[in-house]
Amino acid sequence: MRESELDVADVQQRAGTGALPPGDRIDDLVREAYGRARTHAEGEVADYIPILAEADPASFGVCVAGVDGELHEIGDTRIRFSIQSISKAFVYALVCDALGHEKAFDVIGVNNTGLAFNSVVAIELNDGHPMNPMVNAGALAATAMVPGDTAAEKWDAVVSGLSRFAGRELVVDETVYRSEVETNLRNRAIAQLLESYGRITVDPLEVVDVYTRQCALLVDARDLAVMGATLADGGVNPLTGERVVSASVCRDLLAVLAATGLYERSGEWLFEIGLPGKSGVAGGLVTVAPGKVGIGTYSPPLDSAGNSVRGQIATAYLSRGLGLNIFASDSHFSGRTPR
Ligand code: GLN
Repeated sequence: MRESELDVADVQQRAGTGALPPGDRIDDLVREAYGRARTHAEGEVADYIPILAEADPASFGVCVAGVDGELHEIGDTRIRFSIQSISKAFVYALVCDALGHEKAFDVIGVNNTGLAFNSVVAIELNDGHPMNPMVNAGALAATAMVPGDTAAEKWDAVVSGLSRFAGRELVVDETVYRSEVETNLRNRAIAQLLESYGRITVDPLEVVDVYTRQCALLVDARDLAVMGATLADGGVNPLTGERVVSASVCRDLLAVLAATGLYERSGEWLFEIGLPGKSGVAGGLVTVAPGKVGIGTYSPPLDSAGNSVRGQIATAYLSRGLGLNIFASDSHFSGRTPR
């Protein structure tokens, strides 16, 4: 989305190189971001997974979690929804932590496909290479690489790993899971295509099953903020103090998210917001300001690439107001004598 669509043309950009404002100012900015984004009714609720169409388009929550563990939240931050594609980021982190980034890099890649998240063409155009872990092909390849000899062991590793990121036990929404199982022919085709290229070396339909379950894990906006804050905090959950993944895994994942987290809109997102983020089709969005905060938002209406419209608008406001854009700097020169 462009600056005008994000409704931030009049918002002053603070430098991302500065410190966070004090907590009460963060609360004010969260309230302002929510108020501004709430007036936007653009976007469509996803319906290709039938159950998702039942979501209330008016639901909206925003939560900022600091690396100090402070939460700043407003609206429907405790409504639970399926994590969907946002799981891809955290499963990839678990795979990199277990196998090393190099191995994941070779099998999956880190470049944007420039095509839709469920594209089959992207696989064919790249000789069977998934290209990146944030589209379905790369995510299926990543789930196939999760440690475990059986699908059940892989699932245990996924659910316990994502729960450590959230700081609580996550559970599957069985209705969402079943709704997607009945309609995920395309993901089955993608997994079998990857098997034909030797990119998935275990049973591809079992991989799709674990992937579909991971997408049906229930989270709320607050969970997403905490999961994002864990990535902002070098892999340590700021609520539980537990190390979930290494700091280098966080660094590598955030680079991948910056390039690919909002699918074919990732360039626009990085240009306007200047932060790594990841969206999901149920309306969740997680954004990470390294060393500072995680931002979690929930609002079901999506743009044409599958990214939450209100989530992007609220996050753009917070990026500017809180000074999070990693590319925005102030001059160091002011007050210094010329050399
Ligand atoms: N489970 C969904 C799918 O595979 C996730 C997609 C998404 O959130 N973009 O189609």
